Amino acid sequence: MAHSVTVSLYDNKTINVPTGLFINNEFVPSVDSTERINAINPATEQVICSVVAASAKDIDIAVAAARAAFKTTWGKNVTGFERARLINKLADLIERDAQELGDLESLNNGKPSRIARDFDIGDSIQCLRYYAGWADKITGQTIEVDNKSKLAFTRHDPIGVCGQIIPWNYPINMWAWKVAPALAVGCTIVMKPSELTPLTALKLSELVKEAGFPPGVVNTVPSLGTVGGAAISSHFDVDKVAFTGSTVTGRKIMEAAAKSNLKKVSLELGGKSPHLVFESADLDQASAWAALGICYNSGQDCTAGSRVYVQDTVYEKFLELLITKVKAQVVGDGFDNKSGGGPMVSKGQYDRVWGYIESGKQEGAQVAFGGVKRSTKGYYVDPTIFTNIRPDMRIVKEEIFGPVLSVGSFKTEDEAIALANDTNYGLGADDANQCMRVSSALEAGTVWVNQYNILNNNVPFGGKKQSGIGRELGSYALEEYTSVKAVHWNFGEKLEWPL
Ligand code: NAD
Repeated sequence: MAHSVTVSLYDNKTINVPTGLFINNEFVPSVDSTERINAINPATEQVICSVVAASAKDIDIAVAAARAAFKTTWGKNVTGFERARLINKLADLIERDAQELGDLESLNNGKPSRIARDFDIGDSIQCLRYYAGWADKITGQTIEVDNKSKLAFTRHDPIGVCGQIIPWNYPINMWAWKVAPALAVGCTIVMKPSELTPLTALKLSELVKEAGFPPGVVNTVPSLGTVGGAAISSHFDVDKVAFTGSTVTGRKIMEAAAKSNLKKVSLELGGKSPHLVFESADLDQASAWAALGICYNSGQDCTAGSRVYVQDTVYEKFLELLITKVKAQVVGDGFDNKSGGGPMVSKGQYDRVWGYIESGKQEGAQVAFGGVKRSTKGYYVDPTIFTNIRPDMRIVKEEIFGPVLSVGSFKTEDEAIALANDTNYGLGADDANQCMRVSSALEAGTVWVNQYNILNNNVPFGGKKQSGIGRELGSYALEEYTSVKAVHWNFGEKLEWPL
């Protein structure tokens, strides 16, 4: 059976998409299952194609392939220079195919192809190159123990086989954030893309092979979360699991890790990030960043700025500017170059977001903009702004993961900080002027000052409270994929026995 299909894009343009499991550098069928996953185009609601769904047995095979590669052709068997060369080669191939990958990302996820290409893929290429730069610089420390006879040193060993479970909101970007540091330090990978967006991870797997990575270093196993995801997190031969997704699933993964082999876990989870706009802020800029915070990726973002608190003296003016900015966002088909945002990724996400909009209306919040369903095909939700909010409303407390923004006001700086921190999450916050004081008081993994949602590959990213454990990006991510070995060296002391 062929393990690829030809998929139509636009203007007679087509793309060949692999549909098998990628294990040991080959696309293969499941060993014991006929289950398939339908990839759906959220702009048209039509099935694009179906891919093989990995069973628990397939996960065993992928883990065994990753273990074998770790012991023979990767891990400590290859120099950092060689790892860097291969990662850079992979980045070059992604750059070569950026348009095609952007189109495929758009087809399966709904986000504009232009944005996928220029932002998601552009950033992923940079991420791979950033970590390629680290690959030959993974060093430990030399530690003086006594001056005459003893010395200790540390080695930062690759942790081993890594399970990586990624979501659907940034399928390529999350792939790169996970794969790049793991490969740089010498880990091997069993990657499970989201069942909603499996296509680009499979396409990237072709490039992994073309770049020259040995078989088994990267294995890609699309599967349902409750099947493949659960099998990875409870696997006794997986040394680490890195996850991005919901807090509910993160908790399950941690539990499975604890109940199996106590594997290392890093979690990037949900958020309910606040913007704080003080009266001294440049309101035009602050409203533009707030619009970006909720419109970018159609709000399907763990750092979506879904709450805005504005000092009462500038509230009306800010709201007016914000509505003007949000109105300018074009939400439409991913292949229309005018589109700045696309549909929700799936029917499930569409229903969930509309459920929140309805709950906001029922709980007494006022719709200041949007809040009306389209009658056309596609899982579209236009940006919606609520005012007259209360802290106990679901739209204010819970992560919506759609373009739904709650706007409230405050009088004093202390009140602003209390409102911002009143959440189980702690991911991002924005402040205009009182930056040092307020940023130190905010309970968040990231604070943006006079900007929003801007990430850099060399700056760590991660959450506080129930937003996650561990850090991605920057040198911090390397710690997630290494284990520190302390070597105690005696070059002179004689043991006098018995003590
Ligand atoms: P999810 O957490 O269920 O899915 C994310 C990944 O986890 C997918 O690959 C999925 O297959 C896998 N998974 C699911 N159940 C699993 C299990 N028991 N064990 C191991 N892996 C499992 O997220 P979702 O259902 O796709 O979306 C629901 C909500 O999660 C969203 O509305 C949003 O609030 C949140 N979310 C957050 C992020 C983020 O970037 N932080 C990304 C996606 C979704």
